[in-house]
Amino acid sequence: MLRCWALQHWLGENNKGVIHLPILYQFPTWLQRLYRGVVWRKDASSKVVYLTFDDGPIPECTPELLDILAHYGVKATFFMVAENAERYPELLARVRAEGHTIGNHTYHHVRGHHTTIAEYVADAKRGAQILDTKLYRPPHGRMRYLQKKAMLEAGYTIYLWDVLTHDYNPCYSEEHMLDIVKRYTRNGSIIVMHDSLKSKDRMLKVLPGIIEWLLAEGYELRNL
Ligand SMILES: [Zn+2]
Repeated sequence: MLRCWALQHWLGENNKGVIHLPILYQFPTWLQRLYRGVVWRKDASSKVVYLTFDDGPIPECTPELLDILAHYGVKATFFMVAENAERYPELLARVRAEGHTIGNHTYHHVRGHHTTIAEYVADAKRGAQILDTKLYRPPHGRMRYLQKKAMLEAGYTIYLWDVLTHDYNPCYSEEHMLDIVKRYTRNGSIIVMHDSLKSKDRMLKVLPGIIEWLLAEGYELRNL
């Protein structure tokens, strides 16, 4: 794909074809601290990491994803688009029954910068009500200052991530994604992947390798 080639060429790649521009995968700690009130990473002193999956649940991906997690006996966190959860209540119920944590990712997957403060907060709160959760992750990881302030004041905990796998980006092979996890995962890392049509082929293929590597490195995998 020309676009992928151009991106990799522009950023510079090593002989494994992996782009090395760390900010693409992990925001530096000082930048994480600048965006206050948001959880990027959990306790740095214990060897625990957190797998998180955004945008589901959908029948084309979530059941297979749950099977993989069950196979390894690990728990994860699903930041769901409430509209999807409403459409597929049996999937919402299965995620809950299997002991994973449900987080909210708004009702309509709204973009903060394209929405007024009031509309944004109303959509996010509608999602929280349907999903019955106080955990929140803004779509695209972005929201305006007053939207963030309103969500924090309403008692929501906002989670972003410490490791971005780029599973939604066709420029990244499974090998690239595994390499990103190996390079950037550290104690307390929150790793983000996507329970979506766009990501499912690559994500479902690489997930077993990611879990096996994390367990072999001695990390405990927990839900938020
Ligand atoms: Zn999303």
